[in-house]
Amino acid sequence: MTFSDLNLLKNIQQSLTEEGYENPTPIQQQAIPIIMEGTDLVGCAQTGTGKTAAFAIPIINSLHRIVGSSAKRKMIRTLVVTPTRELAIQIDESINTYGKYTNIRSMVIFGGVSQVPQVDQLKKGIDILIATPGRLLDLHKQGFIDLDHMHHLVLDEADQMLDMGFINDVKKIVKLTPDNRQTLLFSATMPMAIRELADTFLTKPKYVSV
Ligand code: AMP
Repeated sequence: MTFSDLNLLKNIQQSLTEEGYENPTPIQQQAIPIIMEGTDLVGCAQTGTGKTAAFAIPIINSLHRIVGSSAKRKMIRTLVVTPTRELAIQIDESINTYGKYTNIRSMVIFGGVSQVPQVDQLKKGIDILIATPGRLLDLHKQGFIDLDHMHHLVLDEADQMLDMGFINDVKKIVKLTPDNRQTLLFSATMPMAIRELADTFLTKPKYVSV
């Protein structure tokens, strides 16, 4: 299978070709069509399998259809929740790479640094927000984050968030998002608490495992 079999928009295909991506990895082959059809997904995959691109590519593809080249007002349409700032930054870099021929704007927020530049950037309007749980809840509580127009919620490295004690924050975050969202949950392992999270917050998810 090649990326051209996945019917991606040419703006996205172009950036993948330039990156030297020819063949989707197994998690991408399985997950991309499911995400493109709008179905919820549970992906059991480790770092290094290409799981970031597995969700980032179809999300960018779908947002580019909505945002396109128009001057539509920027609002958070995708929220990616991750356990660490390093992972958040990596995801943002991947989104910038795959989306470089789109007008999609993304940004990262995480704790341990001043919130001022993050708030300034949020006010300018963004399409994709990548966040660690604590800072996200904090800025939401202060009224700087509007999640009412979200299409996609990604919970990345869910087992790591569980291990780091973020599970209640993650539940709070999910409850702040619209019910009709598409939810994608990725985890390297599937302990009971993660399966319960998926059962509670995902709608008829498809499961993929690599
Ligand atoms: P991840 O598992 O998301 O951390 O990705 C691991 C690495 O694989 C990253 O450096 C990606 O840039 C790279 N990668 C992801 N998908 C592909 C692909 N289909 N072809 C080549 N490299 C890829």
